[in-house]
Amino acid sequence: MDNKEKLIITQNTIALIKEHEFSFKKRFGQNFLIDEHVLNKIISGAEINKDDTVLEIGPGIGTLTQALCEAAGEVIAVEIDRDLIPILEKTLDSFKNVRIINEDILKLDLNEISQKPLKVVANLPYYITTPIIMGLFESGAPIESITVMVQKEVADRMKAIPGGKDYGALSLAVQYYAEAKIIANVPQNCFIPRPNVGSAVIRLKAHKNPPVEVGDKEYMFSLIKAAFLQRRKTLSNALKNESSLGLSRDEVVNALKKMGLPEDVRGERLSLEEFAGLSDILKA
Ligand code: SAM
Repeated sequence: MDNKEKLIITQNTIALIKEHEFSFKKRFGQNFLIDEHVLNKIISGAEINKDDTVLEIGPGIGTLTQALCEAAGEVIAVEIDRDLIPILEKTLDSFKNVRIINEDILKLDLNEISQKPLKVVANLPYYITTPIIMGLFESGAPIESITVMVQKEVADRMKAIPGGKDYGALSLAVQYYAEAKIIANVPQNCFIPRPNVGSAVIRLKAHKNPPVEVGDKEYMFSLIKAAFLQRRKTLSNALKNESSLGLSRDEVVNALKKMGLPEDVRGERLSLEEFAGLSDILKA
């Protein structure tokens, strides 16, 4: 593709936006990438080859999509904003291996759009990063890896270890499903319009087998969610207060004792293994 069509070149993006009189929608988290170095880092970090099917969430005007079409066998691009569809049809016109779907990714059944293993690559809309990542993990779709631009602070939460302020339900879900690696830190001036926060590209490579065994995964994650909903409380109080779990404080304290943990421990001290152990005891 020649440079006149490459959207990663800032002048081309600006000209296209003007030509289509496109106005950015804050409510859709629209910050378009304009830095080729970052684009190349995403593509190389995602380790895509011609056998791969890539799912791109939020292609925007197609900047990352163009590079994905060149690297992958097939690209499925899901964009919520219907104003962007005619633009995408034009900017991706020369590629025959792309399917554009005008949908909300949170409403889409991933198992229906592709039976093949997927590599997810995206510059995510930041207002729904966590539901998107959790939805991908929980969909049961054959996802090999997720390489995404997220808010820097969210990347830190994904990689956090027990005890720190960043550690929470998202850190534990990421640990359970994938191995996380930060590919790049990305400053605000790599996008138009500039976001208010710093960003990072993170790669989540799905585990073949989860790192811990747990009898009831859903139950463990409901304990984890309840634990961090009231993170300042002791774990026994936080779990007792979540009525859907139907647990008494004594039941939780006894389980903690069995595990050799203090009764006033907070959820933020527990590792994934310990949540799995607690889940098995409370579910028995
Ligand atoms: N990929 C483009 C780029 O890198 O320049 C655009 C990235 S922009 C941060 C996020 C994109 O996600 C926007 O195009 C936005 O319209 C789209 N989007 C927002 N919410 C969405 C949703 N629920 N489902 C699908 N796309 C969504």
